[in-house]
Amino acid sequence: METQLIKLTEENSEEAIAQAAKLLLEGKIVGIPTETVYGLGANAYDAAAVREIFNVKGRPQDNPLIVHISDLMMLNSIVKEITPEAAALARRFWPGPLTIVLHKTERIPDVISCGLPTVAVRMPVHPVASALIRKAGVPVAAPSANLSGLPSTTTAQHVYDDLKGKIPMILDGGPCDVGVESTVISLTGERPVILRPGIITLEQIREVLPDAVISEAATHELAPGEKAESPGMKYKHYSPKADVTLVRGSLEHFAQYVKQVAACDAYAMCFDGEEESIEIPCISYGAKGDLNAQARRLFSVLRAVDRFNASSVFVRLEPDTDPASAVYNRLIRSAANKVVEV
Ligand code: AMP
Ligand code: MG
Repeated sequence: METQLIKLTEENSEEAIAQAAKLLLEGKIVGIPTETVYGLGANAYDAAAVREIFNVKGRPQDNPLIVHISDLMMLNSIVKEITPEAAALARRFWPGPLTIVLHKTERIPDVISCGLPTVAVRMPVHPVASALIRKAGVPVAAPSANLSGLPSTTTAQHVYDDLKGKIPMILDGGPCDVGVESTVISLTGERPVILRPGIITLEQIREVLPDAVISEAATHELAPGEKAESPGMKYKHYSPKADVTLVRGSLEHFAQYVKQVAACDAYAMCFDGEEESIEIPCISYGAKGDLNAQARRLFSVLRAVDRFNASSVFVRLEPDTDPASAVYNRLIRSAANKVVEV
């Protein structure tokens, strides 16, 4: 299959979005830009098309998908009840990078929820994602548009690198603003629980729902046999081919450590301006302390490390890194929980 990569401009975007909407309604899957990461979208009402997403990504069959909507009318047809908590979150954070888990209706096929009675829903703010859903007139099920296990895709080129020949079309809407996946919050239990950290933080959610908490599993390693509340949390994720180790400590100690242990084809991931102090090849993943900037760059840098054929990569972490931050959450998974204190 030939994969069309369409760079959107003011002139062509209406037509390209119409073409993509047509493909969705024909049961095809397409690569689409959103503000978080690129998504691999299918018509959420078309079980066969949704199944194709799992095939193309090599995604485990028990990791449910997020359904993307363009307006609250769509929400009405896919969830049993828009609870007062859900309405309050939607008012404050939608459209935007927040996913809400609610009880689903029959219209959502089991293949999306992997048999769960619930569905994860998000209203993206990205103009292309939003226009495409509106044009298709159906909710769009979409996971990140990467091969399962690899770092997520934050540019159309990343999607092309992973999925060329497997999908008919990718819409290129430029690099993603946020750079990490949405915050996922479940409203189906006794109290609101954040299942996956994102750029919208627990503190921001608590301004709307003061009793919200963050799931233990989102910040700590699952014990053997422990059950994840969100199926996606149990998988190794976001990993480049290179072996990733997080190194927590001062710049000075980091530099000493990598100099001692790094092989000749190892890389370091540091903060802006630190390259001079580190004696192995180094690539910055953002300004120190600027979690938004780090989130935006993170997946691109993890992918770059593989392009450089690094065997291993050492990632600098500040001693006071917040384990509940989106960036730490993605890094700890890409490192399969390998953290060294220096
Ligand atoms: P991704 O598609 O890669 O952004 O991953 C979607 C995330 O949402 C995964 O971590 C899933 O486990 C989570 N998710 C999707 N649907 C549900 C659901 N019904 N209940 C709990 N978590 C969900
Ligand atoms: Mg993903």
